[in-house]
Amino acid sequence: MTVELRWGTATQPGRTRQRNEDSHLAEPPVFAVADGMGGHAAGEVASRLAVEGLARLGGAQAVDVASVVAMVRDANSEILRHSEGSEEFRGMGTTVVGLAVTRGLDGDRMLAFNVGDSRVYRLRDDRLEQMSVDHSEVAELVAAGQITPEEAVQHPRRNIVTRALGVFDEVVVDVWALDPQIGDRFLLCSDGLSGALVEEHVGAALRAEPDPSVAALLLVGEVVEAGGADDATAVVIDVVGVSSSDVEEGPAGDTAPIVAVAGVLGAGLEAPTGERGEGPK
Ligand code: MN
Repeated sequence: MTVELRWGTATQPGRTRQRNEDSHLAEPPVFAVADGMGGHAAGEVASRLAVEGLARLGGAQAVDVASVVAMVRDANSEILRHSEGSEEFRGMGTTVVGLAVTRGLDGDRMLAFNVGDSRVYRLRDDRLEQMSVDHSEVAELVAAGQITPEEAVQHPRRNIVTRALGVFDEVVVDVWALDPQIGDRFLLCSDGLSGALVEEHVGAALRAEPDPSVAALLLVGEVVEAGGADDATAVVIDVVGVSSSDVEEGPAGDTAPIVAVAGVLGAGLEAPTGERGEGPK
């Protein structure tokens, strides 16, 4: 089975920002959004290093799960190396969320991967669903039943991520293997988008606009309209074709294996928000 995609991207610095610390990648078979954090230009550098690492997977028809995870781990090491090598970059980090076409024995799948609180959503049959799990303090509080998802949006610690690239030698990458269907629409976004727009609104925008480039622009434009203080990035990917090949198909349906890749993380890392400004002016 081979998967045919169409996609579009848009990004916009936050209202109070001079620079955009989000980076994104749309190099089939890999798509990603990274949201950098750190003083001065460091956040920008960290997110750029993350997507540049993944860009090395571009150009193939499909990749395998192990190489996606390996590239994320390499990006982690690369960011750490920069951060340890210079005062300017000390303490920088980045989230990364992505989608890749992976080829296995049971055919092509869409692999969602995540470290941090950027998100991957899937719109299927009119239903919008977050396919990634946030690595953030508020997500843990919601999972523990201590706060509601509504409270999480306004929570004072909503910007504390519990996993990021550039913090520890090892990074745990969560992956989900998704069964592609024609008509699936995926959205990769930074928290500047998911924090500024309610999910119903995101779903409505994705349903309203058939062209993925226009849909991405529409979403980011709505963040600006909502007064979004944080950088906002949208990568919209449509599955426009799924064709069978000689490869024997495995059982259909999404799987949700979490690939735990060595390492224990847990220390909080605070992502800068628009409200906190951007350091010295
Ligand atoms: Mn952000």
